[in-house]
Amino acid sequence: MQTANIQNQQANDIIRKCVHCGFCLATCPTYKLSGSELDSPRGRIYLIKSSLENNNFSQSSIKHLDRCLTCRACETTCPSGVEYAKLIDIGREFVEHKRPILQKIMRYGVRKLLTTPLLFNLIAPIIRHSKINNSTPVINDEIKTKVLLLGGCVQPVLAPNINHSIKNILAKLGFETIETPQKQCCGAVDQHLSANNDAMLKIKSNIDAWLKLDVEVIISSASGCGLMVKDYGSMFKKGDEYYKKAQYIANKTQDIAEFLADKDLSKLNLNKVNIAYHEPCTLQHGQKLSGLVNSILNSLGYFPAKVVDAHLCCGSAGTYSIFQPKLSKQLKANKLKNLTKSNPEMIVTANIGCLMHLQKNSKIPVKHWVELLDN
Ligand code: SF4
Ligand code: SF4
Repeated sequence: MQTANIQNQQANDIIRKCVHCGFCLATCPTYKLSGSELDSPRGRIYLIKSSLENNNFSQSSIKHLDRCLTCRACETTCPSGVEYAKLIDIGREFVEHKRPILQKIMRYGVRKLLTTPLLFNLIAPIIRHSKINNSTPVINDEIKTKVLLLGGCVQPVLAPNINHSIKNILAKLGFETIETPQKQCCGAVDQHLSANNDAMLKIKSNIDAWLKLDVEVIISSASGCGLMVKDYGSMFKKGDEYYKKAQYIANKTQDIAEFLADKDLSKLNLNKVNIAYHEPCTLQHGQKLSGLVNSILNSLGYFPAKVVDAHLCCGSAGTYSIFQPKLSKQLKANKLKNLTKSNPEMIVTANIGCLMHLQKNSKIPVKHWVELLDN
């Protein structure tokens, strides 16, 4: 079967599950802002369905698909298990060749800038969040197990302190950390900008490189990257030489919260400040780990106030803030208003994208929650 036919079949299978109940509308951030059915999950499902049937996506349909954040809040709400994120990826791949040339150039430029360390490191000093702190890394002679920490393509340059803190925490807990080099991007940026061939090249090369390391666990400190690597398992068909390898890698991957959840954290030095916690969509809706960071924080004596509309995206969403600045800014303003209602001294989160996005307009520091545990 041709690739387009396989994707049509996949799209049909997903679309058929939708019973048009509309429950998802209540939790869709773009529907909440515009009030238009076309900016809702159900509306976009109709758009993709009719466009695939007619083999024609209009420029207006492309606009409504582009406004979707791929936050997956609709998947969390949907009672029928509609795999909306897979469907929108298929829809976007179909429309890619229909884009005006300027849009294509912009998308290509942003994609290459973010995923090519040589280019990204040139602009990083202008947008850097924080430098690494100067404390000596923790050395522990009683190392038990080797773990792989995903470096991420932008995080090591923008906020190196996050993984520095994680390495210290893991060393105190008796784990040796190996970090992936910056060039090993997980493939999410390519995939979300519909450059699936480039994404698959990165994914295969990561799988081959990580298999050789023979580690117990693969840890991600950016929930967006973690979600992508956990999805590796569903990206290859049965019979493909990468099918089993990808599932093996995906099953070994954990968000740092999952890894720390059953560990004794009592020997860590905490930075006791009054915090608000922003739970990234990729953690709550994508990885389905809603509440986990909060419960770890509670066990350590932090009690962040309940945040209104905590299920709604902050507007960061990968490259969304670059391509949809108006909607992104509105979502960020709403999020910051809700996060700061309890007058916290600091906002903590679990994804570099949300962190950078919120920090830009926040009057208080925005950090990764693990940085609280490495004082
Ligand atoms: S996607 Fe799910 S929640 Fe939304 S209309 Fe379809 S079945 Fe209902
Ligand atoms: S992924 Fe998010 S923005 Fe897109 S339709 Fe679903 S809830 Fe709305």
